Amino acid sequence: MTLPGSLDEAVAALAAMPAAVPVAGGTDLMAAVNSGLLRPAALVGLGRISEIRGWQYQDGHALLGAGLTHARMGRPDFAALIPALAAAARAAGPPQIRNAGTLGGNIASAAPTGDALPVLAALEASLVIAGPGGRREIPVGRLLAGIELLHPGELIGYVRVPLLHAPQTFLKATGRTGPGRATASVAVVLDPARRMVRCAVGAVAPMPLRPYDAEHWVASLIDWDGERTLAPEALTAFGDYVAAACIPDPPPVPQGADDGTGLAVQAPGEGTLPPAVLHLRRTVATLARRALGRALA
Ligand SMILES: Cc1cc2nc3c(=O)[nH]c(=O)nc-3n(C[C@H](O)[C@H](O)[C@H](O)COP(=O)(O)OP(=O)(O)OC[C@H]3O[C@@H](n4cnc5c(N)ncnc54)[C@H](O)[C@@H]3O)c2cc1C
Repeated sequence: MTLPGSLDEAVAALAAMPAAVPVAGGTDLMAAVNSGLLRPAALVGLGRISEIRGWQYQDGHALLGAGLTHARMGRPDFAALIPALAAAARAAGPPQIRNAGTLGGNIASAAPTGDALPVLAALEASLVIAGPGGRREIPVGRLLAGIELLHPGELIGYVRVPLLHAPQTFLKATGRTGPGRATASVAVVLDPARRMVRCAVGAVAPMPLRPYDAEHWVASLIDWDGERTLAPEALTAFGDYVAAACIPDPPPVPQGADDGTGLAVQAPGEGTLPPAVLHLRRTVATLARRALGRALA
């Protein structure tokens, strides 16, 4: 394994060995190797690149190094800066995973259950990519949607996040007690300067989803110059709006037929939905209601 000391050296190492694969914390990569899904010809380790293990401030933004571990992002000084990303980092797996796993690895793996991803989508973060042709910057949403790809030899160097100086929250549901992958997650970010609420839902689709109509609707109800509170009915309606937008109805079952499971149920105001869809929708509605409620509290 090659262990470069700078981002530029890592890019050069990848250019010299096109078959090599970058590895940061190794939590995802080694799982793929151990299960026989990946046989890298060589590895370029990113763990000694100190320039991407911290953050710096730039024009109202934080430039986060891709090598920041979940454990580091979970600490109070980082939480004061970007609370929702710190909350996601604290929720990402058991301690040994949080100690090794990195922000860059979470983004590059782009797993639907990646906890940092809905937060970065709600923050409208962008990625600074380093490659043989120099550096370029792309919105994180374009990478996660597959509109932009990492080209061979390119690395995620930094993540640019706006510093909003306003409440933001991340909540996650898992199918078990203790650390686990998300069955659904919700990030909510308040942007008082632009009078916006931004929300992203994770784990229910291949990429985080933004319910734009629900965001605009609820932002129009908030008294941005006053107390910034919402009635419980409005919070509930926001949760339902987000859930319906992100978990659409499955195709209708023809009359007289059943859905194959024989379990389709009639829910008040929700038509006939398979129980799994109904459960997921209710989970997302609850997470979104609570996430916004906490951000406004
Ligand atoms: C038991 C277990 C539990 C987990 N639980 C969670 C969880 O609850 N929430 C969650 O979000 N994740 C979870 N994960 C997934 C994983 O820990 C995270 O996605 C982690 O952030 C990956 O980071 P890493 O540094 O270990 O990536 P690595 O494994 O080193 O790399 C992952 C991929 O990203 C590429 N890569 C790494 N860094 C860069 C870079 N800077 N530029 C370009 N490509 C790069 C690698 O080539 C590889 O393809 C879990 C994993 C395990 C094994």
